[in-house]
Amino acid sequence: MRRSLVVGNWKMHGSSSSIEALVPTLAAAAGSQTDVVVCPVAVHISLVSQLAAGSELEIGGQNCSQHEQGAYTGEIAAAMLAGAGCKWVILGHSERRQYYGETDALVAAKSVAARAAGLTPILCVGETLEQRQQGQAEAVVTAQLAALVEVGLEETDVIAYEPVWAIGTGQTASPAQAQEMHACIRAFLQENVAEKAMAIRLLYGGSVKGESARELFAQNDIDGGLVGGASLKAEEFVAIIEASQD
Ligand code: PEP
Repeated sequence: MRRSLVVGNWKMHGSSSSIEALVPTLAAAAGSQTDVVVCPVAVHISLVSQLAAGSELEIGGQNCSQHEQGAYTGEIAAAMLAGAGCKWVILGHSERRQYYGETDALVAAKSVAARAAGLTPILCVGETLEQRQQGQAEAVVTAQLAALVEVGLEETDVIAYEPVWAIGTGQTASPAQAQEMHACIRAFLQENVAEKAMAIRLLYGGSVKGESARELFAQNDIDGGLVGGASLKAEEFVAIIEASQD
């Protein structure tokens, strides 16, 4: 039985005061049957860490460097995230692939660096609307996963399927659409890392809300969610956490 996991990606949002207002509610909701993680911008990690102390709320980074350290202005090493209190890191988010040109190979290299620092990568895959309309969705996602095989897919614990057309658009994939792709990902894992395939947690991400979460999370191969906008609203995110506990 895979434990549910709900991850909030705060993207480039939040201020000290909004975080001080939000975290206590999320910290109170974390625990029991679901792992709950929030991923603030790097400068807010220590504040979240202080506010979440003593609770089961965990913290993740939104990205890390593939390098251990060095002259890489503006970058953050995985070990620095771990040192600041993170246990997790989102890698290969479509916004990073789209705006910063991150390739499958770079995401794979970052996942190696993250694991070496003791972080659990949350590896994002997903197709664009155009790719889906051209019938390439499964091929695109499979290719993204294939890039990870060479760097140890068997050491992967979490994969997030995030159709690009559903992120921040309000257009959630239907539970059937999401399950279809999750089943495809599970089949890929069975072919490539059979011994680990049933243990890897698969998250759905893309405009998840309190009202859509329950049916999505009820699907066989959906083990939780990667949540953007709704994770910044206490009531909405708590509803999503609760939906993962049913
Ligand atoms: C995300 O940023 O990973 C995401 C899923 O965003 P949203 O929930 O806002 O679509």
